[in-house]
Amino acid sequence: MRKLFCLLTALVITCAMYAQRTYIYCGRFIDVKKLEVQKEITIITEGNLIADVQKGYVAAGTGDKTIDLKDATVMPGLIDMHVHLETETNPNRYMETFTFNPADYAFQSVVFAERTLLSGFTTVRDLGGSGVNIALRNAINKGLIKGPRVYTAGKSIATTGGHADPTNGYRRDLMGDPGPEYGVINGADEAAKAVRQRYKEGSDVIKITASGGVLSVAKSGENPQFTEAEMKAIVATAKDYGFKVAAHCHGAEAMKRAVRAGVSCIEHGTYMDDETMELMKQYGTYFVPTIIAGKSVADSAKKPGYFPPLVTPKALAIGPKIQGTFAKAYKAGVKIAFGTDAGVYAHGRNWLEFVYMNEAGMPALETIRAATLHAADLLGTSDIIGCIEKGKLADIIAVNGNPATDLSSMGKVKFVMKNGVVYKQD
Ligand SMILES: [Zn+2]
Repeated sequence: MRKLFCLLTALVITCAMYAQRTYIYCGRFIDVKKLEVQKEITIITEGNLIADVQKGYVAAGTGDKTIDLKDATVMPGLIDMHVHLETETNPNRYMETFTFNPADYAFQSVVFAERTLLSGFTTVRDLGGSGVNIALRNAINKGLIKGPRVYTAGKSIATTGGHADPTNGYRRDLMGDPGPEYGVINGADEAAKAVRQRYKEGSDVIKITASGGVLSVAKSGENPQFTEAEMKAIVATAKDYGFKVAAHCHGAEAMKRAVRAGVSCIEHGTYMDDETMELMKQYGTYFVPTIIAGKSVADSAKKPGYFPPLVTPKALAIGPKIQGTFAKAYKAGVKIAFGTDAGVYAHGRNWLEFVYMNEAGMPALETIRAATLHAADLLGTSDIIGCIEKGKLADIIAVNGNPATDLSSMGKVKFVMKNGVVYKQD
């Protein structure tokens, strides 16, 4: 018995010694903690983990793999904190609500997920869809399809007639009176029920639409749509189930209520005033700006008939303002995490947000930190992703050029590794 045990132990040690490692040679390496670009670094991965990071080009052992990225810039896999993988903007988008079956959303989400991963985003937070986004996450986790690591809200939570009420703008007999199961609540009890329903369905995070929004067929893009008591019930219940709460918000009053209720982040934040910024700093609330979504809806609104008549003026008024708000919030010292609202614009162009954040005054390497270290902090996953260091998951990407001096290189992704598996290598 003892002999057998010794034999097994020896076998295990031998296997561990000979586990294949991958040596990634990085010409430039972005250290998102020190906010600096380092030269000639070797990342060693083993299985799905980063085994070591060393200075210089370290020789690989026999049987080990090597990946040559000596002419590229290597950084942690990017994280987009606000995407909608089920849908993508197009002039028929509103009609699709009536013509699409869940399978239609499912098939197209497969395409959008793969495109997102191949553009360097190894992790995303899906902030609302029909619930197909939960099945999508599961299929990616099982390895059936290629996509980023998804943390999903499932369905968003709104109040009756609110931004995420799924029957907004329908005619009366189709409108009905959806309740917590469909993400529509009125009062604290229904708020708690909607959160529990998301838990039952398998969501990872809770999304509420605290104010009006641009793309819903409703008049206001900024009115407060939850009472503070309703939001407090959501946050308290979410806490019981280990969920963080993300609040879509354009109007300042809705933002203040959401921050005081204890949400983790404000999405869009268009009309954020000085008082709200102070409140967010006090509560440690993150701001997820989505500048690209604002610019994109404003552009689409200029095309005749692209949006319903109620939506067009909101898109023109709100869209162009987000970048200016971001500039003020960054200067004021509000915590920023990268997020784009992908789906409101074409998936795969997420990288443009880096350029827009930089235009508004955030230094290039800080924009990348917002999409790695800080996004992981907001997700609550800093122990496994967000930077390249020993013990973290092997989520590693590389781009041509040097983003520290030219952020357009973020659109030139040449290498993507997620969880130790290479998905792209040009
Ligand atoms: Zn959104």
